Amino acid sequence: MSNDPTTDPRLRSWVDIAEGSDFPIQNLPYGVFRRPGGTPRMGVAIGGFVFDLAGVAEAGLLDHVAVEQSAFHSSSLNSFIASGRSVWRQLRARVSELLEISCPEIKGAPGLADRSLVPMSEVELLAPIEPGDYVDFYSSLQHATNLGRLFRPDGEPLLPNWRHLPVGYHGRSSSVVASGTPIKRPTGQLKGPDEPPRWGPTERLDIELEVGFITGRANSLGESVPINGAEEHIFGVVLVNDWSARDIQAWEYQPLGPFLGKSFATSIGPWVVTLDALEPFRVAAPAQDPVVLEYLREEQRRGIDIHLEVALATPDMPKAHVISRVNFSEMYWTMAQQLAHATSNGTPVRAGDLYASGTVSGAEAGTFGSLIELTRNGSEPITLASGEQRRFLEDGDTAIVRGFCGGGDRPRIGFGEVRGTVA
Ligand code: CA
Repeated sequence: MSNDPTTDPRLRSWVDIAEGSDFPIQNLPYGVFRRPGGTPRMGVAIGGFVFDLAGVAEAGLLDHVAVEQSAFHSSSLNSFIASGRSVWRQLRARVSELLEISCPEIKGAPGLADRSLVPMSEVELLAPIEPGDYVDFYSSLQHATNLGRLFRPDGEPLLPNWRHLPVGYHGRSSSVVASGTPIKRPTGQLKGPDEPPRWGPTERLDIELEVGFITGRANSLGESVPINGAEEHIFGVVLVNDWSARDIQAWEYQPLGPFLGKSFATSIGPWVVTLDALEPFRVAAPAQDPVVLEYLREEQRRGIDIHLEVALATPDMPKAHVISRVNFSEMYWTMAQQLAHATSNGTPVRAGDLYASGTVSGAEAGTFGSLIELTRNGSEPITLASGEQRRFLEDGDTAIVRGFCGGGDRPRIGFGEVRGTVA
């Protein structure tokens, strides 16, 4: 369906890209990196390298793209994202041209190819955005059903509102951190069924496998984003691990919802994959029953075919063991519906805000995106390749979330990974 030349599977780059890399020339995800001792710079992942956009801009090769030079030296992508979709497309088209195998400007500038590529292993990848706001949804039908069955075994697993609106809450943007940031086990109020509350470190530290979208400057106070065309305001997609303390959460959450059990850390991946790169992997989203209200009704419901997985490594098992695999395409509520709903009361969305999907889970064992589901709230521990068992995360454990589209005969559009070790 797409006539976008930047996603043409026949495109080749002058960069040497390993077979199966997450970052072929059709991907071109944006991030922010820093050389040792250096300052932040905007870059694009290509194979095992970062293409240094600040350096390329200094060489005059981005002069015709309507991006302020300062954006390439910013500590986040926010100012670039604020420039809007036509500029996002302009820069992507230009970067694709510069990385294409026959690019005369790169070939004609001695040493420029080498200078503009930095091995990914030699740089620090920062959080790509500084979100002003972070919203977390609960949009996987299976996840909501799984948790409903655990917590209300005798009742209807879904609460009455679930199929009528994308349930969500306002998260904490100050603790959205880069992949690799150590996660300190949070302390809080804990309460067993027949005991008074006590104070201590969480005993039920969990992961949540999620996918987040990053917004452009979508609307002003008092305006809402119409459902059809809402994706015009979405810059791209990142991997998210939304760490959760289940015991703190269980005691605090009624009646106002998640608070300290969720706000201590949310890890995001280093690379924002644009919707343009994901276009070849858009699929029909599941039909909704009952029909939703008009402001959430879409002319075309589109999900994304992203293969997701969670792996765990432990101090005794440094080689990560995959504990869950699931596909993102089954999400009941689409990104467009989430954005239309979040702004339906006139709340403004800013450039660089983060909207996470909620835990992505499938129906079968081995497709759940959280330990609370995988271990049935800690009652059935999982066994890792090392023979170790886990109900929830222990100190020194590392959780790794990965995701990619395509592969096989299609260029693989990967997200890299988001990892965090419990300190
Ligand atoms: Ca979450």
